Amino acid sequence: MQLTPISSWGRLTSELHRAIPLYEHSSLSNLCKASRQYPGLAYGMGRSYGDVCLNSGGLLWQTAGLNHLIRFDSTTGRLACEAGVLLRDIQKLFIPKGWMLPVTPGTQMVTVGGAIANDIHGKNHHSLGSFGDHVLHIKIKRTDGSILECGPQQNPEWFKATVGGLGLTGIISEAEIQLKPTVGPWLDSETIPYDNLSEFFALADSSEANWEHTVSWIDCMSPTNRGIFMRANPNRELQLTPAGKGSKKMPFTPPVSLVNQLTLRPFNTAYYNLQKYKSGKSVVHYEPFFYPLDKLLEWNRMYGPKGFYQYQSVIPRSVGQDATQSMLKEIEKSGEGSFLGVLKTFGNRNSIGMLSFPEPGVTLALDFPNHGSSTHKLFDRLDAIVKEAKGRLYPAKDARMPKELFEAGYPKLSEFLQYRDPGISSELSRRLIGY
Ligand SMILES: Cc1cc2nc3c(=O)[nH]c(=O)nc-3n(C[C@H](O)[C@H](O)[C@H](O)COP(=O)(O)OP(=O)(O)OC[C@H]3O[C@@H](n4cnc5c(N)ncnc54)[C@H](O)[C@@H]3O)c2cc1C
Repeated sequence: MQLTPISSWGRLTSELHRAIPLYEHSSLSNLCKASRQYPGLAYGMGRSYGDVCLNSGGLLWQTAGLNHLIRFDSTTGRLACEAGVLLRDIQKLFIPKGWMLPVTPGTQMVTVGGAIANDIHGKNHHSLGSFGDHVLHIKIKRTDGSILECGPQQNPEWFKATVGGLGLTGIISEAEIQLKPTVGPWLDSETIPYDNLSEFFALADSSEANWEHTVSWIDCMSPTNRGIFMRANPNRELQLTPAGKGSKKMPFTPPVSLVNQLTLRPFNTAYYNLQKYKSGKSVVHYEPFFYPLDKLLEWNRMYGPKGFYQYQSVIPRSVGQDATQSMLKEIEKSGEGSFLGVLKTFGNRNSIGMLSFPEPGVTLALDFPNHGSSTHKLFDRLDAIVKEAKGRLYPAKDARMPKELFEAGYPKLSEFLQYRDPGISSELSRRLIGY
């Protein structure tokens, strides 16, 4: 079996894996034999930032070839498909038919299996929860050869372990999801600059009841914590659609990160001023609103050969403003700035998955170029704030959180462990669970 170097989105490592592309359902039956020799892991599009989708030295079952649609009921919007189907393809195919994904993350280049395994969230958690809330049925292949089916009513404990289960309960081969009705691809959006965190929270609170989507970009280099708040609702009048403009590609990997001390402050100031200038109401296509970063393919290469980290926390709402303020202060003090800073609130609802990340509160996500020990020292200080505030970090974005923080943030971990597939393991599970 050939060894292939594989990275995740943060490009922090490029270790050798025994990669096995899966195309046919029937190819799943050989998995159990192989995983007796090496532990395996499913890999979708590798859009996770850290090591949750990596398994160096072991098997990596690449599921993107399992990309068949199985069944669609146009009266109910129930879609059954294989786990390698991309969210992009579901949107493209079904929006013209009047149905779209209820929950979608900041990139559409993600598989259905990856969306379930990380129980991903979008900009509408306060109105529609996370991806797992819309999954009706999952078929799992275990490495002992058995097939397990689960859903909110059928084997519900297996369902709760698999939604947000980080790929560790088995390989999801198929899923049925509930799409939501839509008139077309357009959104009525409003962009509002804010000057500080109090203004952000006032905007977030007052938008929850009447706006389906809310999100904000935060300028973590500004001493006042200014930012740009965006909210949107589906447009109920316009239907089809000039096709979205194509994407461009990052042409090369620069020898050093383009995001650095010299570029960050001018980048952030220019972006803030441009968005402030464009603020107000507009009708936008869903692609630039939901997936602004998909415009530049392989943008992750701009951080250079050392790669980058994303640090995403969620903090309970009662202490959310103070803890966010403290984190932003630490970041400003450290000089390890971030261009991609996202601040948003999660709604008051608990997630289905035993290890799902979303919980009621405020979530801050920031990208940092990998500067080695100085970046890690900053993360240690941020970890202390998250721990004190009884928050948690998002495994889909993580490559370094300490085990104690993971255990403190995910109190259902020991319940989850009884559902693990012993033939499956990842870099993240070895780092945070021990096997
Ligand atoms: C630009 C960008 C923006 C993003 N924005 C958001 C966001 O707004 N919200 C959010 O929640 N996330 C966001 N993410 C993270 C991304 O949505 C998740 O990491 C997602 O899980 C990646 O899916 P994937 O198909 O690439 O899976 P991978 O990254 O390849 O794998 C992720 C996990 O899923 C498991 N897995 C994959 N397929 C299967 C399968 N068939 N069976 C069992 N397990 C499987 C893997 O083992 C691994 O544990 C973003 C990522 C990027 C790059």
